[in-house]
Amino acid sequence: MKKFAFVLSLFVLIPLIFVGCGQENEMALSNYFLNLEYQEESHTLNGSEMVEYVNSSDNMLTYLCFHLYPNAFREGQENSIVTVASRDKAYPNGLSYGDISVNKVSSEGEDLVYEICGDALNILKITLKKELYPDESVKININFAVKLANINHRLGYGNGAINLGNFYPVACVYEEGIGFMTSPYSSNGDPFYSDVANYSVSISYPEKFLLASSGQVLSEKCQDGLKKAQIEGKKIRDFCIVLSDKFKTVSSKCGNVNINYFYYNDPSPEQSISIASKAVETFNNLFGMYPYTVLNIVETNFLNGGMEYPNLVMVSDDLKSSADYSYVIVHELAHQWWYGVVGNDEYNHAWMDEGLTEYSTLLFYKENSDLGVKFEDLVSSANKSYKLFVDVYTRVNGKVDTSMDRSLAKFDTEPEYVQCTYTKGVLMFNSLRETVGDKKFYKALKDYYKRFSYKNASPADMIASFSSSTGYNLESFFNSWLNGEVKVL
Ligand SMILES: [Zn+2]
Repeated sequence: MKKFAFVLSLFVLIPLIFVGCGQENEMALSNYFLNLEYQEESHTLNGSEMVEYVNSSDNMLTYLCFHLYPNAFREGQENSIVTVASRDKAYPNGLSYGDISVNKVSSEGEDLVYEICGDALNILKITLKKELYPDESVKININFAVKLANINHRLGYGNGAINLGNFYPVACVYEEGIGFMTSPYSSNGDPFYSDVANYSVSISYPEKFLLASSGQVLSEKCQDGLKKAQIEGKKIRDFCIVLSDKFKTVSSKCGNVNINYFYYNDPSPEQSISIASKAVETFNNLFGMYPYTVLNIVETNFLNGGMEYPNLVMVSDDLKSSADYSYVIVHELAHQWWYGVVGNDEYNHAWMDEGLTEYSTLLFYKENSDLGVKFEDLVSSANKSYKLFVDVYTRVNGKVDTSMDRSLAKFDTEPEYVQCTYTKGVLMFNSLRETVGDKKFYKALKDYYKRFSYKNASPADMIASFSSSTGYNLESFFNSWLNGEVKVL
């Protein structure tokens, strides 16, 4: 059944050869060494960071830029963190603020000149002592302190747990022809963009807490009421920690992957861990193997359904049913493939990971039809929801912008962002599958995963990769969906 106005004639049926970055030699990765101390009474995290930054660009660099995401939680920035409609849910105990202060920046024992810039003080710009040429590395030490807000968000403390997401200075991605990508925070979406790196992290915290984190915990020792954990994460693009004294745990294994569920409110944790295991198995088969040995699912105080980090996904403690837990867990786990291993600029091209992840969630239910959630119903519901959005916006505003490839700042409302990114993403990838057929579609997903593992893909990379794998020039197909020409029938 053809649901969309788009037809096959937009394809140019010529064989294509992919000339993307799949054939490159393995790039040297930057290394982060973090030494952290969490102080419960003041809700602060003191940190020293040593980054061995590798210049993987083709340009000589005289300065480096790092994101200071915690400064988005400062007073006056509430609108950048959550929409007005979500404010009560985010701040159950009233407005609360946090920030990051940088106390010292040095290299090899010498102080470096730095400034904190950007409209929201969101960027740390460090002037290097000498030019950094391509493939060279430099060691940078940054001493910082993060004050946490009382907020149900990626970074902050709530009634259930302490979320440490995007808490440390992380290097901005350098794009050829543009420079450092210094996008600010946004209440829409996940405003992040980073390169894969290696992490070695030690953290001390009150011993009553259990720790869930990215990477692999190598050791945990208790002394004088404190625990000290040593953690290592190889080839991951971010590092997240959640602490809680409420956690219970249940674990399972899928191949050589240890899956751990840290929970305190989920009414059916056994069902949730079973779904997680099925999701890893399903996505291993559909896209390619999950390349790490640990995967932590963490229930926590988070205002939206869930949030993805490498080897760790947050699941909101506010979900209403076990079906909701299942759906959110599957969606967040799909992000391990689309965001975690294959990265993209989530600020400027959110549809790339969110659209494909949401469609992957539907594919999970397609592959696991015994779970009683019908794939066809999910597609039909996406179709109805998107059409309703177009109808309502057209009626109220006289027009509707349905383009997908915009920065988070260019979506006027949260529903507009969700419909154009997730829902329309589902419809686009489903249309692609129906048009090229299952065999070519799944080959394209597997090839895309393989070609861009541990890298960042651009929209042009994705289109070129899918075109090469299917043998069709899909440029017009993608562009007509992305720029809003396609009318959903
Ligand atoms: Zn998502």
